[in-house]
Amino acid sequence: MQIKILGSAAGGGFPQWNCACPNCSGIRSGQLQATPRTQTQLAFTPDGSIWFLLGASPDLRTQILAAPQLAPPDGEPTGTPIGGVFLPSADVDSLMGLLHLREFQSFFLFATPAIQKIVQTENRIFDVLHRADPPVQWQSLTPGSRLACRFGEDPSAPPTFICSPISVGGGFPDYMSSELRRSLSSQESVIALRFEQSGKSFFFAPSLPEISGEWLKAAATSTVAFLDGTFWSDDELLSTGRGQKNAREMGHLPLSGPDGLLAQFPSDSAARKILIHINNTNPILDENSAEHRAVRDAGFEIASDGMEISL
Ligand SMILES: [Zn+2]
Repeated sequence: MQIKILGSAAGGGFPQWNCACPNCSGIRSGQLQATPRTQTQLAFTPDGSIWFLLGASPDLRTQILAAPQLAPPDGEPTGTPIGGVFLPSADVDSLMGLLHLREFQSFFLFATPAIQKIVQTENRIFDVLHRADPPVQWQSLTPGSRLACRFGEDPSAPPTFICSPISVGGGFPDYMSSELRRSLSSQESVIALRFEQSGKSFFFAPSLPEISGEWLKAAATSTVAFLDGTFWSDDELLSTGRGQKNAREMGHLPLSGPDGLLAQFPSDSAARKILIHINNTNPILDENSAEHRAVRDAGFEIASDGMEISL
């Protein structure tokens, strides 16, 4: 499998258009040693030719154009190597990019039944995806199950890869009606995704609201784990004057502290650990900061746009 990080920031990107926090101001003025980042987006290919997107970020059009692997195949009037999109949640940052894929293109869309319902019943703008012929095809992701994906026509052939969706807790987005919210299973609100092929695997979780044994085990036993690196501290938005909620209330375990991700992640894991979905307020973005050094010293990498990984 090959993985490409198309975007590595949290919602708003880095810098964020209306943010004057020390990081965003510093990168604008050139005073901060840091790299700009677009909003979190992964792509992977199990066979070197068909690609899958993890999430559909608001920056997706620009991110596709920046990745030569995702250009239309030669010799066809229209087409794409993108075979499908896996949605980890119904957050705006996870699905807004679907509107960039509206150009009469057919592909598979993988999501939990709850996320499908949110997109299809209360957000009719996404109906533009169904203008393709054949229309976009929805596939259900059931937390706790294993989905075998096969290329080719032979149903008895071994799967090309296996996807395991894992419920990680957390809530539904604010924009939906309370009526719809009451009708949906909270287990299907936010998921981590684990992909396996030929004994290699990777784990992707841009939102980890709390520690749980289930996702910790799935992440720690993967070859590569992309983990929620949104906030350094629980009060980061409050202390930078950027919000009224703490990290946990926003569905993100902070990195620091005795009950934060760095301390809680199994120290005996052999996984390559890469932090992704980094908020523009996070001090780890400053490459000269103590927090940046602490993350590296703890054995974690910090994702940046354009990173490529082969498994
Ligand atoms: Zn900022």
